[in-house]
Amino acid sequence: KQVNERLRLPVIPQGISRDDFLKALEELKGELGGENVEVNDKPLKDGWYMEHPNTHDMMTILDEEEFVAGAVVYPGSTEEVVKVVKWANRWLIPVFPISMGRNLGYGGAAPRVRGSVTIDLGKRMNKILDINAQDYTCLVEPGVSFYGLHEELGKRGLREHMWVDTPDLGGGSIIGNTVDRGVGYTPYGDHWACHSGLEVVLPTGEVIRTGMGALTHDGENTWGVFPYGFGPFSDGIFSQSNFGIVTKMGMTLMPNPGGHESFMYTFPNEEDLGPLMEIIRPLRISTILENVAQLRHVTQTVIHSAAANTPVGDHTWAYYGMSYGPPHIRAYKLAIIDAEFRKIPGCRKIDPATLPEDEYFWSRDRIASGTPDIHELRWVNWAPNGAHIAFSPVSPIRGPDATKLFQLGKRLHEQYGIDFMPAFCVGLREMHLIVEIVFDRDDPEEKKRALGCLRDMVDEAAREGYGEYRTHLVLMDQVAGTYAWNDGALGKFNERLKDALDPNGILAPGRCGIWGRRYRGRGWEM
Ligand code: FAD
Repeated sequence: KQVNERLRLPVIPQGISRDDFLKALEELKGELGGENVEVNDKPLKDGWYMEHPNTHDMMTILDEEEFVAGAVVYPGSTEEVVKVVKWANRWLIPVFPISMGRNLGYGGAAPRVRGSVTIDLGKRMNKILDINAQDYTCLVEPGVSFYGLHEELGKRGLREHMWVDTPDLGGGSIIGNTVDRGVGYTPYGDHWACHSGLEVVLPTGEVIRTGMGALTHDGENTWGVFPYGFGPFSDGIFSQSNFGIVTKMGMTLMPNPGGHESFMYTFPNEEDLGPLMEIIRPLRISTILENVAQLRHVTQTVIHSAAANTPVGDHTWAYYGMSYGPPHIRAYKLAIIDAEFRKIPGCRKIDPATLPEDEYFWSRDRIASGTPDIHELRWVNWAPNGAHIAFSPVSPIRGPDATKLFQLGKRLHEQYGIDFMPAFCVGLREMHLIVEIVFDRDDPEEKKRALGCLRDMVDEAAREGYGEYRTHLVLMDQVAGTYAWNDGALGKFNERLKDALDPNGILAPGRCGIWGRRYRGRGWEM
């Protein structure tokens, strides 16, 4: 990507003068140290996944200057996060926390409100505070990545003992991914469901711990083993929200199941989708299919392999799964799966022994057995200057729903002239269709088409009863607006919480469609 090397003027958040903003930052330097407060006056460089920017979205679908930070600060402790939050309240400056900022496809490191001060937690708060090999738990700070934890397990000789569940790409933050309710591909793939207890800095600067961490005596002893503690379970309001900054999180780890075996089936026809879903549902709910099941359309698989000669051959759907446990346990489950899948005429089982080492299958094998990977980045390079943004509606695991969503996506992609790359990810009782639109980030016309297509898909899907499980910054108001039952009662409830917890509305305004009183109804929504 071409970078304009001119120096930029600092981006000033709305509602404060340039002089006051710079004065405020000088004041913060006094509290955090000069080296931990950076004004964003350099050219915006996109880098790549491993050297990603923390000032903006490196895969932006709008103009790069839209969602851009005014400054970035690096607190080194919970106490310093409190200082930043109190400072933001004094100056009425919006702040936006990120753990590592690799939220690609959902906004990357960018803040929703231009000029916000990004709180980059991960740079200095990156300690693994505890790994407990008996309880299979850990306690981490925001800068601990899936790779980082995996490496530490190796250093401590625990890798054969327990696994960290990882998303498709392992460079993200465990806390960042979990609070955005991200997913991975072992039986511990629902990260939010696997977390246990948080430490949170509230928007007014108080610090709370949830779950067992709230005990004054030895709370850490039970922090990771029981998520609920006593009283209302407040953790939920700190996920996909702007109600607090998570500075510590307990996480559960998966015991090594004593063996694992990846398998892959392919199915010939697009119309196999419906019957296949009817087969997958009971197998997945009863956990014969044990991990997040992935059914990918051939287009995407071809991109992965970057060659026409893939194991999928002339087939349309590829299913990737893994069976866990010692050989006799696996054999029992794999026999059931085989008998069921073969009910689809033409179904083919791929023999892993025939697949070369760099085949996508082996990346899935690593990820589903707790080894972080970055192979998945390959399909982003489908387009020059490849960037992507996702449509991910939730539906029941049913043939008619899968077919309806597939057709909806296909029709709108054709209408907008965009390659259609659907994959179905089956959680436990639900599935989400993940459609990644890959676009050239230097082509405004292509970006406009991608956004148009996304907006139409979100609205049409919602009309059919399918809501997004997570979304990009640019779509947050629209998606929040689709959860509108009873005259938008849920949105109003979120606004009441926001105003109570964050009276000055300084924390991540607009994130997930939640705006504080100071911003509401003033044209910020999009
Ligand atoms: P961050 O960017 O640090 O955080 C995400 C958001 O959460 C932030 O923007 C912020 O609003 C909020 N947040 C972060 N930390 C805090 C905090 N401490 N307190 C309060 N709020 C906070 N994602 C998946 O889940 N599963 C996948 O399989 C997957 N596959 C991907 C494949 C590709 C090719 C790409 C490009 C992306 C994929 N992603 C996937 C999306 C993304 O890369 C991951 O979710 C990644 O883990 C998110 O980045 P992060 O962990 O650095 O989080």
